[in-house]
Amino acid sequence: MSLKTIKDAIENKKMICPECKKPIQQFSKYAETIDAVRDGFNVIEIDSNASRVTLTCGNDGCDWSERTEYWLEYIVN
Ligand SMILES: [Zn+2]
Repeated sequence: MSLKTIKDAIENKKMICPECKKPIQQFSKYAETIDAVRDGFNVIEIDSNASRVTLTCGNDGCDWSERTEYWLEYIVN
């Protein structure tokens, strides 16, 4: 999960607003939270599964906005 995934989803209009069902126009305040860092056998592994963003619909007549870690749920295939 990364910033690029969110950017691509918005650019490709695959991030859908739950209120008006139109593509979400913008996001902000991206923050990646790192859950665990393991260092052993010369391998450093970083677990990161939570990227928090504020999604803003931005379509006319819709003021939906949400700060969420579960933005993946708004992406359609
Ligand atoms: Zn909307």
